[in-house]
Amino acid sequence: MTKLVLATSNPHKLEEINAILDTSKFGNISFILAPKEFNPDENGKTFEENSFIKAKEAAILTNSYALADDTGLCVDALNGAPGLYSARYAPTAEEKILKLTAELKDIPDKERTAKFVCSMVLVAPNGEKLHSTTGEIYGKITQQPRGIHGFGYDPIFFIPNLNKTMADLTLFEKNTLSHRAKALLPMLHWIDENLD
Ligand code: IMP
Repeated sequence: MTKLVLATSNPHKLEEINAILDTSKFGNISFILAPKEFNPDENGKTFEENSFIKAKEAAILTNSYALADDTGLCVDALNGAPGLYSARYAPTAEEKILKLTAELKDIPDKERTAKFVCSMVLVAPNGEKLHSTTGEIYGKITQQPRGIHGFGYDPIFFIPNLNKTMADLTLFEKNTLSHRAKALLPMLHWIDENLD
C-alpha cells in the first residue's frame, strides 16, 4: 500500500481524488488529508510553483510523500483572471460567483470562454520534487449559477458539448472529464511505477 499526504485542507478535493481512485486500477494508493498545522504561503508565480510550495510543506511536516493540487479558473475575457488568485478572489464560493458574473455582465456569450487548470506536484519526504502533471478543461462562464453538485466555481462553468455546467454533473461524471482527473490519472500511473 502506498500512502501519501494530500497537501490540501479542502475536503472536496480529497473526496474527488478518492472517488477517482475508487474507479481506477490503483487500489494500492491512498491519500490522507494534511495535518491542521498545514498553512502554506502560496506566493508562486505559476500553478506549478504553488503546487510545489504546498506539496513541499506537507511532505516536510509529515515526513511523507505528499501530493498537491493547485487549481484555478482562467477567463479569457479577463486576460486569464482570476487564475492564480482563484482562491483569494472573494471570501466564499457564492461571493466568487457573484463577483465573476458581475465582471462579465457585458461580455457576450461567444467571448465567455474559460478553462480550469489543475497542476499536481509530487514531493518526497525530504522536500524534493519528483513529478508533476497538468490537466485542463475548456468551457464557458454562464450568466447565472446552475447545478447542485461540485464546489467552488463549478455552478458557472458550462461545458458546451454536454449542455451542462460542471455542477450539473454528478461526482462520478465530473471525474470522467475534469481538470483534476486529467492531472491525477497520469500522476497515479507514475506513483504506481515509481514508489513502493
Ligand atoms: P486551490 O487550488 O485550493 O487554491 O483552489 C483555487 C480556487 O478554485 C478555490 O476557490 C476553489 O474553490 C476553486 N476550485 C478548485 N478546484 C475546483 C473545481 O474542481 N471546481 C470548481 N472550483 C474549484
